[in-house]
Amino acid sequence: MNGDRDICHVCGMPANPVVESVEYHKMFFHFCSEQCRETFLENPGLYASKPAAERKEILKRRTLHLAEPPDEEVATLLTSYLKELMGVKEVEVEGDRLHVSYDLLQVTEAQIEEALTEAGLQLDDSWRERLRRAWVHDTEEIELKNLTAKPGACCNKPPPGSSK
Ligand SMILES: [Zn+2]
Repeated sequence: MNGDRDICHVCGMPANPVVESVEYHKMFFHFCSEQCRETFLENPGLYASKPAAERKEILKRRTLHLAEPPDEEVATLLTSYLKELMGVKEVEVEGDRLHVSYDLLQVTEAQIEEALTEAGLQLDDSWRERLRRAWVHDTEEIELKNLTAKPGACCNKPPPGSSK
């Protein structure tokens, strides 16, 4: 067997032997980065069932509000920094607005925010933005969980826990 062993099961890039493999249902999964490993561990059922190449992406485009507009140099650094995250497709800074497109199967807004905070950037802390972020975190989590649950629904037997 070749191939699968060397491919990241989340994003389909070459796996990095430095990143620890994960054993799930007696199978070993390999990853290109800690980020992909974390993503897998959040919803292993979703990623274990299909290799990355057979999965459709779930594209999200969101606008994050920064506490203050970054200057041009910071904006450029920020853009290339975020693009290094797995799954981030496009980044555009416009004043204090950060437009970002990403594949939800590889990265969540929560992870993008975490990366921003780690880079020393502050997000708009108004209640409205905090509410929006909390809502996005919840809906993205539910969307991913629902994807994991789907395969069971097409079987003849009822999903576990459905009998009264
Ligand atoms: Zn990966």
